[in-house]
Amino acid sequence: MRILALCVLLLSCVRTQKISSVQECNERIRWKFEDYTKKPLFASQIFTKGYGIHIVYDSKTELPQIVRDSMSFILLNGFRAALTTWGVSLIANKSTLSKDIVGYLDAYNFKTGNNYTYNAPQVFSVDCIENANFVIRVYTQSGKKFRYSREILAKAQIQGRTIIINMQNHQMIYDQKLFQIKSGLFFNIVPILAHELGHCFGLSHQNDGKSIMASSSKSISNFPLMKDGQNFALILGKQIKGGAPGYFNPTERVGLRAGL
Ligand SMILES: [Zn+2]
Repeated sequence: MRILALCVLLLSCVRTQKISSVQECNERIRWKFEDYTKKPLFASQIFTKGYGIHIVYDSKTELPQIVRDSMSFILLNGFRAALTTWGVSLIANKSTLSKDIVGYLDAYNFKTGNNYTYNAPQVFSVDCIENANFVIRVYTQSGKKFRYSREILAKAQIQGRTIIINMQNHQMIYDQKLFQIKSGLFFNIVPILAHELGHCFGLSHQNDGKSIMASSSKSISNFPLMKDGQNFALILGKQIKGGAPGYFNPTERVGLRAGL
């Protein structure tokens, strides 16, 4: 009942918004990324072409460089590790995949006999939102009050390219060895980003049994499981229609709750 009330509240109070960079942007290099909304995911080579991420810090005051750097480290490494977990989930499911997707894996991963070595894409930050194919918005402790809920860890649009991370109410770390979502007081950004990336690729919540797409951190798996990989493989062959980086359609936005 409480969750339903929250959803109704969310839908009634948020508007479609454009998240834009505050700073004027003079980045010299213009990156050209493959737009995976124009082709099926696997044809867009999402695991090999690289990701340019524009990070927006929601803060009332200018954050010290060291704080920005450490958040950026957590987010970029977490993003790459999260992509890796999805890539590995495909390899683990290889026997159930279509010929097209197996061909994709064969072409873009190192293969010796039946053994694959997964080669994760580059993930780097870009100054200008126009140069990004992904936007991460961070709600920081000094920012305006996180308007959704203290319980929410992160949000993403289904078939979108924007993720909101709630670092205002939750402390997050990057730990690729420790895939479990909670370590003491800290949340591990890797499964959180893997979950949100799942939404961005087009996956919805799965609340029957363990899954990376469970809606609460209490029941979420640490990385994509067999059935997550199978669901992912199903959408890899489909063309998706996501918004431009920085755009949200609130009716298609979903949150990962902290099951405290
Ligand atoms: Zn979710």
